[in-house]
Amino acid sequence: MLRYQTIPVTPFAQNCSLVWCDDTQKAAVIDPGGDLPQLLAAVKALGLALEQIWLTHAHIDHAGGTGELAEALNLPIVGPHPGDQFWIDGLPEQSMRFGFPPAKPFTPTRWLADGDTVQIGHCTLNVRHCPGHTPGHVVFHSPEAQRAFVGDVLFAGSIGRTDFPGGNHEQLLASIRERLWPMGNETVFIPGHGPESSFGQERRTNPFVHD
Ligand SMILES: [Zn+2]
Ligand SMILES: [Zn+2]
Repeated sequence: MLRYQTIPVTPFAQNCSLVWCDDTQKAAVIDPGGDLPQLLAAVKALGLALEQIWLTHAHIDHAGGTGELAEALNLPIVGPHPGDQFWIDGLPEQSMRFGFPPAKPFTPTRWLADGDTVQIGHCTLNVRHCPGHTPGHVVFHSPEAQRAFVGDVLFAGSIGRTDFPGGNHEQLLASIRERLWPMGNETVFIPGHGPESSFGQERRTNPFVHD
């Protein structure tokens, strides 16, 4: 069974999640934006073997620690979708603009596409491409655990910004309705910022995307 712990990192309180298979204790980290010592302390405290880095998208608060962590532990970088290449190329500039420590450049070991799967230990998660906030944004869904790690696509009571280069409001709404809602009303999502919620709750009450 998939388990997870969410750790807010960076001055943007970005929800970095450690996800692991509780048969094997093999773990992946989703969106290591920064604060690597804190993340590695959690890995150790939980007794996990960190094996992979998974990225939802390449904004600095989500991807800023990726290059350093991958190099330090020799980890593969999985994701995001190639539509975010320009955001990866722009990480040094994003670091300066938002006052983050310099981000080490990286190249994903494996790009992701809609319909792909990622695996950690005995757990498999489905990948959906959800453009709109960024062109290459992906989300990770575990049907078994009824959890989805959605980055900055959807928040409790809100949706992702679309005023950055490559953002597209209509596309974001379509991603949410056509690719998140089919995961089921009971599915709990872990957004990139703020508290968890369920898709059913958002379909009832989210002013941007309610039914
Ligand atoms: Zn973002
Ligand atoms: Zn974010």
